Amino acid sequence: MISSIKALVNIPSVKDENSKDTPYGEDIDKALKKALEICDNLGFETYYDAEGYYGYAEIGEGKEMLGILGHLDVVPAGELSNWNTDPFEAQIKDGRLYGRGTQDDKGPTVAAIYAVKALMDSGIKFDKRIRFIFGTDEENLWGGIDKYMEKEEVPTLGFTPDAEFPMIHAEKGLLQSKLKSESSGKLVLSGGNAFNAVPDRIGYSGEYNERLKQELDNLGFEYEVQGETIYVIGKGAHASQPHNGINAIALIAIALNNIGVESNAIKFIAEVIGEDYNAKNIFGECEDEPSGKITFNIGKLNIDENQEEIAIDIRIPVTKDKEKIVDDIKQKVKEYNIEYEEFDFLNSLYVPKDHKLIKTLRKVYEEETGKDSTPLVIGGATYARAMDNCVAFGAVFPGQEKVEHQANEYIEVDTLIEVTKIYAAAVYNLTR
Ligand SMILES: [Zn+2]
Repeated sequence: MISSIKALVNIPSVKDENSKDTPYGEDIDKALKKALEICDNLGFETYYDAEGYYGYAEIGEGKEMLGILGHLDVVPAGELSNWNTDPFEAQIKDGRLYGRGTQDDKGPTVAAIYAVKALMDSGIKFDKRIRFIFGTDEENLWGGIDKYMEKEEVPTLGFTPDAEFPMIHAEKGLLQSKLKSESSGKLVLSGGNAFNAVPDRIGYSGEYNERLKQELDNLGFEYEVQGETIYVIGKGAHASQPHNGINAIALIAIALNNIGVESNAIKFIAEVIGEDYNAKNIFGECEDEPSGKITFNIGKLNIDENQEEIAIDIRIPVTKDKEKIVDDIKQKVKEYNIEYEEFDFLNSLYVPKDHKLIKTLRKVYEEETGKDSTPLVIGGATYARAMDNCVAFGAVFPGQEKVEHQANEYIEVDTLIEVTKIYAAAVYNLTR
């Protein structure tokens, strides 16, 4: 198992947009072929998509199919001087296997493969087919897995070893949109870096400087002055957890609106959203039992002489209807002469607690670890969203360090072995 993980980690399978012969680059293609070769040697039937978007490895018999979704692409190593080892030459130090992809997601994927191999070696006959589906573009746009779901048989149920234990059974819908309007030409202001981040500061300089400072003092909002620019200070956070942050764009909008600056965007943000990241003025009390309240984040604001644009990120409770949410927004922004434009949407994921998949995985996890198995709810997105009846199951345990996408990414060898046992028990029970 370790040497298989090493072989995959040693292929720097980072996306290469410029490849002519492969969808995501030579190295991702090499990693895909390597994974199939490993599976082939272990006794699986393998299939390589002629276009190179995905591959799969299968064992067992029967009509139903258990899908295990892992991905073979990795994010870049980043600044090499931050690494203590070569990110693309996996090695064990002090019981930890270091290298890019050891935790996300080559290590856990290979652990699941060897879990099934252990069952095969024990002489277990599978009443369902088990299919490992290898994604090639998880870190970017999910092109590989989307192509698979379009062209191939979709598994009956499944899990992805690409997040954390015990399991994630609810992931809110993710809607990112732009709110656009004409500019009054009286304000130039921009800030925020991404839809999915609570902006931690925004700077303004111009004719309203003195009044803005005064108003920020009145409101008790934090700011600092650097030269001619006033920076309003918030607190950064992920858009799925806006309660951990303070939105600097919302603060400056409240202040600018109070001093009467003419702008549709400012007026909308100040009057409708303000500091309420649940946007009750738009959605009312929008929440449900499995996944909690809707969240609304203003990620970016861009106002120039001609146009105004607000970038928003909304996490929709799993039982709520997206179209209704969109209608609510459209109706409200119209009052401010603002147009709604969708940028991106990811469906929610929800597998109820009484579903066989959840019941089985909980039982297995409790038996193997003795730990609490209460399923998690998140605002973020895991690979499980690629298909129905699928959840993220491991491979990071509660309290363990999450080192995905970071320098010195590792997985403990002991963890790998424990994870393999859990996956073996899970596959065994899910194919009965
Ligand atoms: Zn991943």
